[in-house]
Amino acid sequence: MSTEEEFDQCLGSFLGNEQSIALLLDYDGALAEIPDRPELSVIPPETKETLRNIVNSGKAFVAIISGRSADDVQEKVGIANIIYSGNHGLEVLHPDGTRHNQAIPKAVSDNFDRMIDQLNEEVAHNGAWVQNKQFSISLHYRDMDPRLVPEMVQKARRIIESHGYRADSAYQVLDGNPPIEWNKGRAAEYILGANFDKDWKRRKVIFAGDDATDEHVMVLLKGSGKSFRITRGQDVESSADFKLSSTKSVYQMLKWLEKKLCV
Ligand SMILES: [Mg+2]
Repeated sequence: MSTEEEFDQCLGSFLGNEQSIALLLDYDGALAEIPDRPELSVIPPETKETLRNIVNSGKAFVAIISGRSADDVQEKVGIANIIYSGNHGLEVLHPDGTRHNQAIPKAVSDNFDRMIDQLNEEVAHNGAWVQNKQFSISLHYRDMDPRLVPEMVQKARRIIESHGYRADSAYQVLDGNPPIEWNKGRAAEYILGANFDKDWKRRKVIFAGDDATDEHVMVLLKGSGKSFRITRGQDVESSADFKLSSTKSVYQMLKWLEKKLCV
């Protein structure tokens, strides 16, 4: 799905004559290609311009919910008047600079620096490295010899858990997350509720994301909003309403919204 006619079909009837939308977006793999290293990510200039036009139309409430830290994703996108939510929703950074962060038990967060030190000392070798996201960590091992990975991951998992964090597997990454029940779906619900009150389900909410962690948002919006899962594999199981094949298609979708809203 990428042509104007296709978006006319899937979004046109959903939006009808509605002139205002809530747009929630993932960053890596949705707005920007997934880079070799997180710091190398760049949002394509045309995507940025289109998204900025959508924001400036005054008809769209926009929030970006990322696995990165909120400050990191804000810097990568660089557009004002957007809510930036980081660490899979644990952090919410409002446009006026105020923050709403999920409380992490102090007995756990006190271990954070020690956990990073221990991971750096004991497992971050041979291409594996630790990304400090302030509330959580990601241990990246894409560049590691695959034969070394299973033992390293097992050890890292033990270290993460010994510090009271939860080890979650992602694609070529092991995340260390605080042991609280929170995800992108809960964050989306909080963000929409805080801005539109309880009747947010009557809003026209659109979401796009590429990862398993984004499925929580897709489940939340099922039946009331429209969601897009970016994936090359058509057989990937998803709760999304539609699938898009690439970040390029997300750009096409944004162009469609820009045309609809900026008249
Ligand atoms: Mg993503």
